[in-house]
Amino acid sequence: MTHKILQKILPFLKQQGLSRLLIHPEEENKTLRCRSKNNEELALNLDPTSTKQLAIFLHNLTKLEEKGEIINSYHKIDCGEKNFPFFLSIFPSEQGKKIIIELVDKKINALSLNNLGLNQEQQKLINQSLKRGLVIIGSPDNSGKSTTYYSLLNILKKHELNINTLEKHRECHLTGINQLKLLEKKDFSFKKGLETLLRHDCEVIGIDDLTEKDLFLVAPAIQTGRLVINTLRTNSILQTIAKLLTNNFSAHNLGTNLSLIINQILVRKNCPHCLKKRDLHSEEKKEIEHLLKKSIWCQNTYYSTGCLHCQQSGFLGQVSLFEVLAPSQELRSLLLNNNNVTKDSLLEKISEQLKKEEFPFLQDDALLKLQLGSISLTEFFKLLDLNL
Ligand SMILES: [Zn+2]
Repeated sequence: MTHKILQKILPFLKQQGLSRLLIHPEEENKTLRCRSKNNEELALNLDPTSTKQLAIFLHNLTKLEEKGEIINSYHKIDCGEKNFPFFLSIFPSEQGKKIIIELVDKKINALSLNNLGLNQEQQKLINQSLKRGLVIIGSPDNSGKSTTYYSLLNILKKHELNINTLEKHRECHLTGINQLKLLEKKDFSFKKGLETLLRHDCEVIGIDDLTEKDLFLVAPAIQTGRLVINTLRTNSILQTIAKLLTNNFSAHNLGTNLSLIINQILVRKNCPHCLKKRDLHSEEKKEIEHLLKKSIWCQNTYYSTGCLHCQQSGFLGQVSLFEVLAPSQELRSLLLNNNNVTKDSLLEKISEQLKKEEFPFLQDDALLKLQLGSISLTEFFKLLDLNL
């Protein structure tokens, strides 16, 4: 019975392009509705009895795995045509135990830079920068940074490099890569793991979900000539640089060793099955130009009317918006020549330099995807409201 509930939920999440489902303790006796990352409700109505049964079933699944306060385990459910692998996390909160079901994307191995939603110029910068030094992939929680991280490792794998990774939770198995899982209970932390890797002959180190407080551990690693790829919770490229400067990275170290910063955010994608094109009204154009503080070439906009495929919502799946920074020679010189200025003053200079170089920020990628019909005007204005 409970298997049947999961057999219904997992394909639904996949079809809607959602990666996770949260069950709050106070919801266990209520009708469970599925929420997207933007906290919008989707039409998954599960009656209170089934929700309760599901919670009990998931609790029981983990009893066989490990004991402890926070539980993270990997499972697979047969959903007829295919298996759906997922991570299950159960952790205590004040109201009781919170349950998270997170789908594992089995296709992650096959994701090309193109499939991630990166444009040609961004792809070129990434391919040129995966040589040595520091690469940071930043985004808010659940905004696709792990997918980008595994896709970059996948590219490097083809060059037959010696690649080792440190991961809290292994989201994807990549053949040909040594993936070390951190075991905090056994004191195999990021610190111990990095010390071990630096003693070994490896050319690429990948660290998924590095917390800001552990960021300082990476500063010496990038000075060894290796390529170090991290993911980090952050909102913008400037915020990433600010976090690095606060955590033991000098401007000089960044000027010498910073290779690439990718920042991304996920937004809802227009349903392609009911997509319509219309002229962009002059007031809308003026509003966009006012918010972006520049004139735009956009003439049309697209919207989805709602159909069976998107359950009448007009949205189907999600798409990433990206900003990709490979420091120019001028930006490197700026970092190297300003090693002793205050962090705020340096960030201001970097911001001015990026504007001077007409660096394409998230908003510019959003404008491009608006023009191409991938995203709606609603999602575009929502992004601009975030003021990242
Ligand atoms: Zn549709």
